[in-house]
Amino acid sequence: MSDTIFHKIVRREIPATIVYEDEHLIAFRDIAPQAPVHVLFVPKETIATLNDVREDQAHIVGRLAHAAAEYAKREGFAEDGYRIVMNCNANGGQTVFQIHLHLLAGAPLGGFGR
Ligand code: AMP
Repeated sequence: MSDTIFHKIVRREIPATIVYEDEHLIAFRDIAPQAPVHVLFVPKETIATLNDVREDQAHIVGRLAHAAAEYAKREGFAEDGYRIVMNCNANGGQTVFQIHLHLLAGAPLGGFGR
């Protein structure tokens, strides 16, 4: 079973600014923010990459997106908008091998088809 820095955050073995947690997932501020708001949503179930999500685990990814949207609403930037990103493996730029969703917000974000 893989053990990543995110597992250590869940176990409170290393510090993080946790902004949300429930029985299924944890959310905390990215240590190297790429936007004014940059929060990572991480499931508590161990899954290394998006490639490893089985059909019976698809709801776990949905939960991450739902939690991110709820956070955006609570924090008051849902209507202004935001971006969610999941990186997979080398070409996707994945560096931590426990799936996670990036929530980026707080300013207009460039790129992607513009
Ligand atoms: P990825 O490149 O998609 O695997 O994203 C991993 C993210 O985790 C990067 O944006 C890092 O800045 C972030 N990160 C790494 N270590 C920590 C940490 N200890 N606390 C918070 N974020 C972290």
